[in-house]
Amino acid sequence: MRLDKKVAFVTGAASGIGRRIAQVYAQAGAIVVVADLDMESAEAAAQELRGTGARALAVAVDVTDESQVDAAVARTVEEFGGLDVLVSNAGIQIVAPLAEFKFADWKKLLAVHLDGAFLTSRAAMRQMIASGRGGSMIFMGSVHSKEASVLKAPYVTAKHGLEGLTKVIAKEGAAHNVRANLICPGFVRTPLVDKQIPEQAKALGLSEDDVIRKVMLKETVDGEFTTVDDVAAAALLFAAFPSNALTGQSLVVSHGWFMQ
Ligand code: NAD
Repeated sequence: MRLDKKVAFVTGAASGIGRRIAQVYAQAGAIVVVADLDMESAEAAAQELRGTGARALAVAVDVTDESQVDAAVARTVEEFGGLDVLVSNAGIQIVAPLAEFKFADWKKLLAVHLDGAFLTSRAAMRQMIASGRGGSMIFMGSVHSKEASVLKAPYVTAKHGLEGLTKVIAKEGAAHNVRANLICPGFVRTPLVDKQIPEQAKALGLSEDDVIRKVMLKETVDGEFTTVDDVAAAALLFAAFPSNALTGQSLVVSHGWFMQ
């Protein structure tokens, strides 16, 4: 599975899952754009990639901002001559019972996950059509694209929504050799999850250990967290797969928490 000379734009690549995807893509020969709100960490991630001999660029982008997204994609094309792979991965989590959910938090979460996916995929689609090169788009869903959990109304809503967007892009993109797929990880120990453990413990009246064992990993076949390596391997498969045989799909990487 090689990505030699492919240009990959990975959002949320300054941390966690996105950062690992950026590393794995670079190892597979890709030129990687580390796109993130957190410019300091994005620059550190890009520098680390350049240290391994890869070509990499950090760009500051808020995926909810139309002009920032368009400018970041334009800069990518200017620097590297095209865009072949989009990983729309930037995400946040806010947990609360529905009855207490603040409208502002609902809108913020939907904006990062859904507006972010729309704006980045629209910019990528325009470029992939104009270049005639086609490309591969990968959206970061979740087991919560398939299942619900308490306290996560906007997250579950957004992650289900991404499955719909993936399928539309698979249909619209086919004529232009653009593919779209969704990765649906189970719980992965990243800053996003580490923040949730004490929050859920408080909201559910459980110890942090019980949140991990009895909530997060309860339905897995082996009580194990999914890892950033597991998710990055799926992201490499979708990016490097050479035909439309694999488009409009969702791949659940969750230690059997959800079985299709
Ligand atoms: P993380 O917090 O480690 O990384 C998220 C990154 O997104 C950060 O670098 C952050 O700065 C960036 N980001 C946040 N808002 C942004 C914005 N508006 N514009 C640009 N960048 C922004 O989280 P992670 O666990 O690596 O999550 C990555 C993706 O994976 C998310 O979409 C998340 O929902 C999804 N996911 C995570 C898990 C998990 O268990 N960690 C499971 C399933 C799905």
